[in-house]
Amino acid sequence: MADTDAPDTDWEAAVRMDLEPDALHESESGYYFDCPECGSPATVENLVQHGRCNGYLDEQVEGLDFDVSNVSCTARLRLELAYTSDAENEA
Ligand SMILES: [Zn+2]
Repeated sequence: MADTDAPDTDWEAAVRMDLEPDALHESESGYYFDCPECGSPATVENLVQHGRCNGYLDEQVEGLDFDVSNVSCTARLRLELAYTSDAENEA
């Protein structure tokens, strides 16, 4: 964790995107998003574990026709799950 989530990463200033249903893609090896910087696939596993896209990690996604070998990317990525709940009915 320590090497990927650097202490100088300012997540408060990070760009946040709402994920539409079509932002999530499925491959043979799992779900992935498109990296907003380099456009390479960013598998959920790598997002959560490394905070980097597959282009940065130089990790080919099985079954995908996207060559990550010449991709350079500086994006730090983080998945967030926002949560709220309906107000309780006091009926
Ligand atoms: Zn990227």
